[in-house]
Amino acid sequence: MKWHFYGAAQTTTGSRHLLEVNGARLLIECGMFQGPRAESIERNSHFPFDPKSVEAVVLSHAHIDHTGAVPTLVKQGFSGNIYATHGTRDLTSAMLQDSAHVQRADVEFLNKKLAKKGKPLLAPIYTEKEAELAMRQVVGVGYDRPMWIADGVQLRFRDAGHILGSAEVWLDVRENGRRSRVVFSGDLGRGGHPLLRDPSPVEEADVLVIESTYGNREHEATDRINERLCAIINRALERRGKIIIPAFAVGRTQHLVYALHQLVEEKCIPALPIYVDSPLAVNATEIFRLHPECFNTTTYEQLLARHDPFGMDGLTYIRDVQDSIALNGVEGPCIIISASGMCEAGRILHHLKNNIGDERNTVLFVGFAASHTLGARLMAGAQVAKIFGEEYEVKAQIETISAFSAHADRSELLDFARRATGPLERIAVIHGEPDQANAMASALREMRPSARVDVPALNDCLEL
Ligand SMILES: [Zn+2]
Repeated sequence: MKWHFYGAAQTTTGSRHLLEVNGARLLIECGMFQGPRAESIERNSHFPFDPKSVEAVVLSHAHIDHTGAVPTLVKQGFSGNIYATHGTRDLTSAMLQDSAHVQRADVEFLNKKLAKKGKPLLAPIYTEKEAELAMRQVVGVGYDRPMWIADGVQLRFRDAGHILGSAEVWLDVRENGRRSRVVFSGDLGRGGHPLLRDPSPVEEADVLVIESTYGNREHEATDRINERLCAIINRALERRGKIIIPAFAVGRTQHLVYALHQLVEEKCIPALPIYVDSPLAVNATEIFRLHPECFNTTTYEQLLARHDPFGMDGLTYIRDVQDSIALNGVEGPCIIISASGMCEAGRILHHLKNNIGDERNTVLFVGFAASHTLGARLMAGAQVAKIFGEEYEVKAQIETISAFSAHADRSELLDFARRATGPLERIAVIHGEPDQANAMASALREMRPSARVDVPALNDCLEL
């Protein structure tokens, strides 16, 4: 069995792993690469293998860095099945539509400039229609339902606790008379998520391919989320300020709404107006409501009892642009949750522009922001924010709660590896920047001296 690492190798973006087994090629993840524009266009338009030669695709979860190149793969001739859990299938559909829409808007904007200069025009990498066509190849598979996906390869999805529908990918392989189990972690959650079940422990594995986004960093404890949120909101209310929360539309926004719901019910915060201003977040929330099979027992029982964990008095979901613009005129304290979480694009930029210059307001970060983004600069204490080419003085209070992370931290990842049973002869550490991946690999070598631990680089191939 050979693994080719064509993305998310010593980085956290563009997950693509090609597995060669019994003469078949299986692609685990088909993610979009997000980085400098020219490199992104190149890596998202071309694959280092022939898409027609791939027998099947397996997706661990819906995040765009794991699914965003699926329409391109189909466009270039891939005709096989795409296996995903039902939750991942539905969220991926919403995310690919959003991705195609963002690309179209981006290209239209750039083409206006190019046309003026008489230069050739650009085209989006894929359209909404092409994204929809790609979804027709998806085969939904429930958690813990074994499924043969190629000669000698049986797939099983187990809980990963990262976002709705997220799964560890377990492959039971029979090759040359030998049986082995390969576990691909996908992105792993922290455990203790208010909505989702904990990641499943690995059992009887021979090979583990594990993410390392936070291989060398620790988060705040999850049980401090509500306490911190409550304190930050109440301080903002004393100043009669607004609270602006940049948040990823899928996963983080629903987690936040659930936490705010709890705080209002427990009377830790007053029932102030809350707006979720992101069309993708609105669609994703509807999909969350449709997938009780993904929830932990508490949330599942709430849904059965017809309590809506994603709705409450005073909460408004906003899809329409006009309604979004109308938020500028809202008087008095309120909470506005909007995307993108890293403040690189989307409606959050308008809310920051309108609110960042007022010292009564708070901008609350609840997630990761890559180093070159506005989100990262604000978290690092920037005094000036550049938004739509204009500079704005940062007077609002900037707060961060790292406990919301959808990714396990160093201790949680190591604990996951420690609990894994089986011979575990090989471990490959992926999906982490070099400092994170290497630190994690060192800790794993110490923990499991009999295992060979690799940190593959881009385009490396490991014989497993
Ligand atoms: Zn993810």
